[in-house]
Amino acid sequence: MYNSRVAGGTVSTGSDNRIFIYEVVGLRQNEETDKTNYSINRSGSVFIPVPFKRMNQEMQRINRMGGTIVSIRPQNADGAVNGKVTPQLGQQRKQPTQESKPMTQAKAKSDIPVNIYRPKDPFVGRCLDNQTIIREGAIGKVRHVVFDISGGDLRYLEGQSIGIIPPGEDANGKPHKLRLYSIASTRHGDYGDDKTISLCVRELEYKHPETGETVYGTCSSYLCNLEKDADVKITGPVGSSFLLPEDPNANVIMMATGTGIAPFRAFLWRMFKEKHEDYKFNGSAWLIFGIATTPNILYKEELEELQSEFGDHFRMDYAISREQKNQKGGKMYLQDRIAENAEQMWRLLQQENTHTFICGLKGMEGGIDEALSLVAAKEGVNWSEFQKQLKKNNRWHVETY
Ligand SMILES: Cc1cc2nc3c(=O)[nH]c(=O)nc-3n(C[C@H](O)[C@H](O)[C@H](O)COP(=O)(O)OP(=O)(O)OC[C@H]3O[C@@H](n4cnc5c(N)ncnc54)[C@H](O)[C@@H]3O)c2cc1C
Repeated sequence: MYNSRVAGGTVSTGSDNRIFIYEVVGLRQNEETDKTNYSINRSGSVFIPVPFKRMNQEMQRINRMGGTIVSIRPQNADGAVNGKVTPQLGQQRKQPTQESKPMTQAKAKSDIPVNIYRPKDPFVGRCLDNQTIIREGAIGKVRHVVFDISGGDLRYLEGQSIGIIPPGEDANGKPHKLRLYSIASTRHGDYGDDKTISLCVRELEYKHPETGETVYGTCSSYLCNLEKDADVKITGPVGSSFLLPEDPNANVIMMATGTGIAPFRAFLWRMFKEKHEDYKFNGSAWLIFGIATTPNILYKEELEELQSEFGDHFRMDYAISREQKNQKGGKMYLQDRIAENAEQMWRLLQQENTHTFICGLKGMEGGIDEALSLVAAKEGVNWSEFQKQLKKNNRWHVETY
């Protein structure tokens, strides 16, 4: 996130006549932005010149419009910023073309692609593959779906999500709203050619609380039943904080429940499966994966293959709730597996190069906090204070839904 204290430090040394250039991403279209002359459709970044005296007000205004300031730079008298001519007010940063792929590991917020495609003008991808990733005896329906994105400018980083707009209308006769899905592939896609994007989708199914009828989720059942070659409306990508650390020597702890494995599949492929010029992972990865039954373990073969090949750098623990027992004889949930390993995790969390990622069911953080509070307390440390620091240092990342 943009750090106002850093910006404050920069501006306090300047004279009142100076102009600063705010680079902003994520401005949403609403009544207020529509009054401005910023062209924000399919925006990458918008560059806004701001007089020194108006810096605070402008920050607040951008916040209100849903934007994030990713950089602030002084503008020279000739309109150049750090030696480069700045785009004019409202002018879009030129989107890199297909040829500019592949991207390098994100180094700054401005390198993170966001909202290239918006709901008013989505990208239309094509379904290349749609396969089950659970086995006989599993509960529910979970599919791995691959889309062709070669016809546009959609690009993404591991850990981001995309929006899917299901066809048809909702109960009020309005077009369906988009649903977000974590991207399950690396930026290079499952076929390594930078032309695809993959999702891991669980079909939502529940009994209507009043009628008892079985209800299927609109978008998840649309995706799970998608035919090969079908067109799909895609928006995004979104998300700029659930990203792999740049440091190839980092310790990366990943905690997933169910389809929360999606971004970690992308992380693990990037770390171990793909060979990159710009990112050679030499740190340690630890995945703790909570799931209901063995046949429900998503990407089981892939994960176990990686684990056996890269066991020196990759540890994996399952918590299979309906089959395994915790130390008290109850069901083995993710937090029970963490409690079992709490000492080791606590030691790891104290290393400055450790980054923790949590993805999956809403509410899963509660159990994790409980397990880590106990071990931290043994050393007289207040877990929530410690965790605040981790968050502040961008080392604790949560994406639950
Ligand atoms: C950042 C992010 C990433 C995500 N990533 C993934 C992913 O990788 N994979 C994935 O499968 N999903 C993911 N999701 C969830 C996804 O966005 C959708 O919410 C999900 O697929 C359900 O959408 P739907 O259109 O099928 O359901 P809808 O038709 O929208 O139905 C959902 C609604 O049904 C009702 N409902 C649900 N359960 C019950 C119940 N038991 N009893 C009564 N009413 C109920 C609720 O009103 C709920 O709002 C993610 C969400 C977010 C925010």
